[in-house]
Amino acid sequence: MKDYLVRGIVDSKNVRVFACSTTDLLEEARKKHGLWPTASAALGRMMSVVLMMGSMMKSEKSLSCTINGGGPIGTMICSTKGDGKIKGFVANPEVHYTYNDTGKLAVGVAVGKEGYLEVVRDMQLREAFSGRVALQTGEIGDDFSYYFAASEQVPSVVSVGVLVNDTNEILASGGFIIQLLPNATDEDIEYIEEKMKDFPAVSALIHDGKTPEQILEMIFPDVKILDHQDLSFECDCSRERMAEALYSIGKAELTAMIDEDHGCEIKCHFCNTAYQFNEEELSAIRDSIK
Ligand SMILES: [Zn+2]
Repeated sequence: MKDYLVRGIVDSKNVRVFACSTTDLLEEARKKHGLWPTASAALGRMMSVVLMMGSMMKSEKSLSCTINGGGPIGTMICSTKGDGKIKGFVANPEVHYTYNDTGKLAVGVAVGKEGYLEVVRDMQLREAFSGRVALQTGEIGDDFSYYFAASEQVPSVVSVGVLVNDTNEILASGGFIIQLLPNATDEDIEYIEEKMKDFPAVSALIHDGKTPEQILEMIFPDVKILDHQDLSFECDCSRERMAEALYSIGKAELTAMIDEDHGCEIKCHFCNTAYQFNEEELSAIRDSIK
């Protein structure tokens, strides 16, 4: 099953809904970054939510999200332009913890909860909008749920999950978001709360072959699907962009790279691609600085 996202509406319950499968794109990210299982789970959960938020975008150019909970995984950043493509990384990919009682991947331990979740929306021709909230558990889903309520005043259920096999490959990744519309009633809220009690883990559902539509239909049999979007892990970095970055570090630093290191390698944080520049290329960049 190829990764995709659906957006829908449930008129009878006054909610809008989103669901996605992100198994393949997380596997792609895992290979690129060398993610250990708990790091895969943390980044996978975050990418699922950010992709669903991307499909909520209106006039924004891009949306990026940063989480830093003070835990061993360090800063996590994901970014999308709302086109179904996402790039993202964690500062320390070699992180793995499980909970002793359940054996589940301990995302909250890896991420930590003494920190923040920040969303920055790059608006066309206007100042960027940003919202920041304190982390609640570091488990990602809970933290975004709190973000939607506190920062955007939209009560939301956020459920995201990742399953990893014994050799660290991604078996399943995805999630769903339910957002109350302003006209939602107490009955609508009770219905959702009742449905969410004992609802299976979303990663298990995806692993069983359930599609994003089918997962939403399990909660809302009368959901109307409005949109489909293909999803992928894709970075927009390039050699030209890296050359621009070198241009901006200045003549003295470039001279040191040329004389001492006879070249340089720059890695893109988001996708871990390495770009090499030799002495001649660095000299050309240096000489073009006025
Ligand atoms: Zn890149």
